Amino acid sequence: MIGDNLQKVSDTLLPNVRLVAVSKFHPVAALQAAYDAGQRVFGESHVQELVAKQEVMPKDIEWHFIGHLQTNKVKYMAPFVSLIHAVDSVKLLKEIDKQAQKCNRLIDVLLQVHVAKEETKFGFSPDELVQMLEVGEWKLCGSVRIAGLMAMATNTDNEAQIAEEFDMVHSLFCHVKERFFADAPEFKELSMGMSSDYQIAQQHGSTLVRVGSLIFGEREYH
Ligand SMILES: *Cc1c(COP(=O)(O)O)cnc(C)c1O
Repeated sequence: MIGDNLQKVSDTLLPNVRLVAVSKFHPVAALQAAYDAGQRVFGESHVQELVAKQEVMPKDIEWHFIGHLQTNKVKYMAPFVSLIHAVDSVKLLKEIDKQAQKCNRLIDVLLQVHVAKEETKFGFSPDELVQMLEVGEWKLCGSVRIAGLMAMATNTDNEAQIAEEFDMVHSLFCHVKERFFADAPEFKELSMGMSSDYQIAQQHGSTLVRVGSLIFGEREYH
């Protein structure tokens, strides 16, 4: 069933859009089923769970961390994580740099942009993002590579609003790329879209969709 779900989602993706299978709260057997069906990119949002699954799953998996990350937990994933999606402060960026250096690695990250009309979402506002990039401390972080932006739309049924928010992030992505990353080919990823809105997201410039429940079913929180 997981294999079929995966196929169904994959069949709807535009060329150049990659699928991150969001496996948080699902058991290793579910991840293994997706792996056996060919999936190699997995997203987790809790550090302990990510580390535990990485230890037992095949080693050719690309592990993405998609949740809110506390600086004191970066060290646990630094040895293996492929992409950290939701960097929302310079402090976090510096800590990732420090831990990457310790592991002798270059870690790719995305900067999280806050556009949703909800108080609780993390991330830089568009203004804060540009300002942070202007200040330029990030340029000293030689062991992290800023590979693009990540955003979540408002949790709403209003598709026009979702489209507008994704559009705004896409414009910001283009602006920031031109202004700060024109000579950085690695700045190319736009992580937008989940089960409920990935179809809209990929129409508005997403290159990485983070899909969980459509593949694995509903999560059981405990
Ligand atoms: C859980 C989660 C997803 C996946 O959500 P689904 O609705 O199950 O597809 C995507 N992005 C982030 C940041 C998440 O925490």
